[in-house]
Amino acid sequence: MKKLYVVGFGPGSMNGYTIEALNALESSELIYGYKTYIDLVKKNFPGREYIVSGMHEEKDRCKEALSKANEDHTVSIVSSGDAGVYGMASLILEMAKDYPEVEINVVAGVTAALSGAARLGSPLGHDFVVISLSDLLTPWEVIEKRLKAAAVGDFVTVLYNPGSHSRTDALEKACEIMLENGRDKDTVCGIIKNIDREGQERHIMTLEKLKDYEADMLTTVFIGSSTTKLIGEKMVTPRGYKVD
Ligand code: SAH
Repeated sequence: MKKLYVVGFGPGSMNGYTIEALNALESSELIYGYKTYIDLVKKNFPGREYIVSGMHEEKDRCKEALSKANEDHTVSIVSSGDAGVYGMASLILEMAKDYPEVEINVVAGVTAALSGAARLGSPLGHDFVVISLSDLLTPWEVIEKRLKAAAVGDFVTVLYNPGSHSRTDALEKACEIMLENGRDKDTVCGIIKNIDREGQERHIMTLEKLKDYEADMLTTVFIGSSTTKLIGEKMVTPRGYKVD
């Protein structure tokens, strides 16, 4: 059987793997992924061949992984979190049409929105949206349009890729769009950094303060809706139950 697994391994540590992800990696001979992902996975699954890909080499690596699977090797491509959320799953499925004999198995993982939410409290107790601020593959105008819609719709908004060395003002611009489109400056916001990795940090702040926060690549940002509140140190968006 020609098998390729596209595996999300959760936020970082072994705690976050699903059993299905563990089994997929256990059964793989070759494991593909970015260096930071391979560094996290390798120590837990010794004896496999690891192939590290750099940024901008994604298509070549997917092609190589598909052709290795086509030669009867069991192959995995790994992403942190969920492989279908800003990961490799969609690209693999788009490219797999040239390899009809390879069975593609997408293995769900715990995406940063969910692992981050749990550490902040329960910010996703009601409707929410997820938006990536990376304009590498998406024009900024599209991101802006979606941020506006999220603000107007009063959705809890989770921001992935809020900043990097080369993109320092994306989060500030996103907060301004939120403020210009009806979000209160005191909206409860949460930040979670390095989930399940060394240096994990959580911060709670207002939307006004969030505007000046310098987010890096391993940060996920939560902007509350109009009903999101703080209960002690926990960020909570009520489901709507009446509680006395
Ligand atoms: N497939 C991943 C997302 C990849 S996009 C997932 O499902 O989680 C990369 C973005 O994900 C980062 O910029 C950050 O916003 C978020 N992220 C991924 N891992 C994280 C972690 N361990 N801690 C905090 N944020 C993380």
